[in-house]
Amino acid sequence: MKLWQDKIRKVVPYVPGEQPKIKDIVKLNTNECPYPPSPMVEKAIKEFDTKELRKYPSIEFTELKAALSAYYKVGSEQLFLGNGSDEVLAICFQTFFNSDKPVLFPDVTYSFYDVWCDLYNIPYKRVPLDESFNIIPSDYYGENGGIVIANPNAPTSVYMPLSSIEDILEHNKDVIVIIDEAYIDFGGESAVSLLDKYDNLCVVQTYSKSRALAGMRVGYAMSNKDLVFALEAVKNSFNSYPLDSIAQAAATAAALDTAYFDECRNKIINTRQRLIAELDKLGFTTLPSFANFIFTTYKNRNAKPLFEYLRSKGVIVRYFNKPRIDAYLRITVGTDSETDRLLAEIKNFIG
Ligand SMILES: *Cc1c(COP(=O)(O)O)cnc(C)c1O
Repeated sequence: MKLWQDKIRKVVPYVPGEQPKIKDIVKLNTNECPYPPSPMVEKAIKEFDTKELRKYPSIEFTELKAALSAYYKVGSEQLFLGNGSDEVLAICFQTFFNSDKPVLFPDVTYSFYDVWCDLYNIPYKRVPLDESFNIIPSDYYGENGGIVIANPNAPTSVYMPLSSIEDILEHNKDVIVIIDEAYIDFGGESAVSLLDKYDNLCVVQTYSKSRALAGMRVGYAMSNKDLVFALEAVKNSFNSYPLDSIAQAAATAAALDTAYFDECRNKIINTRQRLIAELDKLGFTTLPSFANFIFTTYKNRNAKPLFEYLRSKGVIVRYFNKPRIDAYLRITVGTDSETDRLLAEIKNFIG
């Protein structure tokens, strides 16, 4: 026992899906895009003038903000950028959840939310989803210190219509409601359209999933200028330069190539529907997915044996040893050939 033991901060961290170094695996465990980023990203990085790295990156994010503003039809003063949406969300928690009342989020959701609450000493309460893993808006009417909802939710892939989000916003005008839209590009409708109507709304998105830039770390929040100002103040008390110069150039190129973006997400949506249909024939039950992953169960049996079998065959998916969801696997939608391999191994397993 070290003498300083009781002085150091102890936290239980978020555990991301593994990044195995094994060759020829089918990696369907962290919801990355199975396709490369836009060719324009490659061009931007190749043409990047390395002499620029001598200088600190721009903190105005002029080009990137212009591209995002044009796409989402929001003002550049409504955008807050960060080093991945995990960083953006962490800063949102620190900035917006500053109350003695508990922050609310679903009992089954992104497992970083309770980690940030613990890290920043924010009280929180998990609100149970219904039996079909739906969020019930009226469960969020009571007094609280803020709300965070992933839409579509993770790891369930279930989407909540904008009318329900509006219902929650309408009943919570005295707190900030964060909508984490990491997967919104795979079939849902963004809550960005509600920003003009609700000044308590903050929408967070990422370039890690639908834009194939997980390794570049680009995320952003969209809100009103007052909340963005508050976020900037907290961020500038921590790190003034979250997005490096190369990431800014790459993300700008990705943002401008909307045709490639649409092509990729449509391919993923098509493969997802085929995967769900095939699993259906094999006797699986899959939740309705609006994401680039599915949440599926084989006859409600514990999913660990299937998870381990797939892993032994080089197909890596995600299993959560947690109440309510241990009969399910979360499987990222890969390419068509990855999906074929996954389905073949599942068939082998169930015989
Ligand atoms: C992947 C994910 C994020 C974070 O992604 P970044 O790579 O940090 O941008 C945030 N929220 C949810 C629900 C996610 O699944």
